[in-house]
Amino acid sequence: MKYEPWKALTASDQTRRAYQEALVRADSEISSLLQIDTECGAEDCRFDADSSLAGVPFSVKDNIAVRGFQFSCGSNILKGLTAPYTAAAVQRLLDIGALPVAKTNMDEFGMGSATENSAFQMTRNPWDTGRVPGGSSGGSAASVAAGLVPFSLGSDTGGSVRQPAAFCGIYGLKPTYGRISRYGLAAYASSLETVGLLSGDIDLLQEVFAAVSGRDSGDQTSNSIAPLNRPEENTPVAAVLSGMEGVTPEIAQGCRQAAEAMRSLGWEVKEASLPSLKYAVSAYYTIAMAEASANLARYTGIRYGYRSSRAVSQEELVRKTRNEAFGREVKLRILLGTHVLRSGFQDQYYIKAQKIRTRIRGEFDQIFSQADMILMPVFPVQAFEAASGMTPLQQKIADRFTLTANMAGIPALAFPAGLQDGLPAGMQLLGPAGSDELLMHYARCLQEVLPKDPLPLRLDPREVLHG
Ligand code: GLN
Repeated sequence: MKYEPWKALTASDQTRRAYQEALVRADSEISSLLQIDTECGAEDCRFDADSSLAGVPFSVKDNIAVRGFQFSCGSNILKGLTAPYTAAAVQRLLDIGALPVAKTNMDEFGMGSATENSAFQMTRNPWDTGRVPGGSSGGSAASVAAGLVPFSLGSDTGGSVRQPAAFCGIYGLKPTYGRISRYGLAAYASSLETVGLLSGDIDLLQEVFAAVSGRDSGDQTSNSIAPLNRPEENTPVAAVLSGMEGVTPEIAQGCRQAAEAMRSLGWEVKEASLPSLKYAVSAYYTIAMAEASANLARYTGIRYGYRSSRAVSQEELVRKTRNEAFGREVKLRILLGTHVLRSGFQDQYYIKAQKIRTRIRGEFDQIFSQADMILMPVFPVQAFEAASGMTPLQQKIADRFTLTANMAGIPALAFPAGLQDGLPAGMQLLGPAGSDELLMHYARCLQEVLPKDPLPLRLDPREVLHG
């Protein structure tokens, strides 16, 4: 059985203890995990469930609630908070016996593309520890690429699952909006974000998606739409995004190689353009910051989390708490969010951004009337150097390829497309709403013809058991 070594790791208290120690050791070089606890979830876990995932461990981004585990969202404002309840996606996994064993590092509230905006630690890319793992689900991606866990749950508001997956050479799925419940996901920008999945194994990714997707009464935007199907006998048609200015030669080469792989499978490959792509970043950040300013208003120091001890009035308590415990990037976004929403100025920013969002949706519809999928890079560069590789503004501009899928609510799957210069060069497939399963099917076909590079593993489940 494929997942047998992983299952053995969680089979008994004793093996869970050995696994716990191995996780601590293996993570010391990459710092992907904020909390490691192989026992905490065991009580709620149905190890005896009749499922291929029973006994399989996984890690969870620290903005997704797991009862008994910490729930910091990478922020000092929620430092020390323990989740009193469990997110719907995690609960569905517990119900079939999969075991959450760690919470992963992330950019504060999901705001960033390098996991360098975490209040707690810097995560390293397991391929090259001088480089970032991507973000904001960088801890999730690094923990999977290093072999600490076989899959992880993350969140994707504008690319936070796919970009770290691409930087770390694994698969990352941002599902169709609504296909996975957001119940238990701490809100950043609700109209854009989804719980997403990361794994080095496309079959496992698909099994996990089948387990966690579907309507949930805890999230009124969730649904059980029927997955999109297409007739077997039709040749798949892929549209490659044209006019990719600003991508490195390595990324351009990776994209050509993926298109070539499609042709070698007999697929039809043509070009397509997204004329509104040049406005996508401004529109995305306008909407994301507007929603963030509203969603983050709940962190006041009154009901939970950090509370300033220096305040003499209630107004001062809220102000000082937020000033002392939010990081720079979060403050910037709250300020800009309130700026674009202030009365009298909405036409200028927010409404305009929504119009661009509608345009982008329309352009995708147009492309999908003639193609089954779109191929494009995930990010214009490969994993960059830690500390100084890219400024916050450069990172935002570089989100242009990923955030389009969030603006349109459509599924997108980052897949490993081979190494360039010794580092992963991830590409992504986008499809119409409901095509999540199809995208995973296409990625499985591509895997047969693309180079398979071994992951930079730091933990071998077999060795933990026998060593
Ligand atoms: N980098 C983007 C941002 O900072 C995307 C983050 C995400 O998807 N959570 O908003």
